[in-house]
Amino acid sequence: MNESILLVEDEEGLRMTLSDRLRSEGYVVDFAVDGQEGFDKATRLPFDLIILDIMLPLRNGFDVCRDIRREGLATPILLLTARDQTAEKVVGLKLGADDYVTKPFDTLELLARIEALLRRAAYSGQNVYQFRSLRIDVRGTKVTRDGVPVYLSAREFQLLLYFAEHVGVTLSRDEILREVWGYDATTFTRTVDVHVASLRQKLESEPKRPEFIITVPAIGYKFEGGKGSSGV
Ligand code: CA
Repeated sequence: MNESILLVEDEEGLRMTLSDRLRSEGYVVDFAVDGQEGFDKATRLPFDLIILDIMLPLRNGFDVCRDIRREGLATPILLLTARDQTAEKVVGLKLGADDYVTKPFDTLELLARIEALLRRAAYSGQNVYQFRSLRIDVRGTKVTRDGVPVYLSAREFQLLLYFAEHVGVTLSRDEILREVWGYDATTFTRTVDVHVASLRQKLESEPKRPEFIITVPAIGYKFEGGKGSSGV
């Protein structure tokens, strides 16, 4: 099945060039010409990836990105930023974007980043996981706890999914880093801890006494599904 991309970009020339190129690479492309339309489509239709310009009419890309995450959607988001807006990239990543490219960008680099994001987001084939109060809708990239949407970044979602696929298995930080981030370097293992801490804040009723993501001293973590867990 071809992966679908939503391109939110108000500059018509760039929109046309880029959608042609993405289609020639085999992606199904839909587009939106302003932030409002971008948000509406992103939350109404299932996309595998969203390319989001920051400077947009009606609603800027930051607001759109934040609001998409608030809806509980973890679809990977790639931001298009202007050359001299380094601060903007940081803001964007904090709001839940996964990566960015700077305009004017090299198309090959953009394609490589798209591929990397999609590869990380590739799912195992199971559609829904239910662990007690926690429900993970893999295809819809949505997580709810007691029916309430949980706001996760795409990376947090991928990490949670990796845990869900390995219930009860002790996973080392190196292994998690390699499988979820694709890094080989062990210098980034702290990254895993940071994301686990963030997931606990969002998923656990008592983050300091976690029920789902358990620390395994000196090794890493283990996900406990508990009674009543099932795959659908
Ligand atoms: Ca623009």
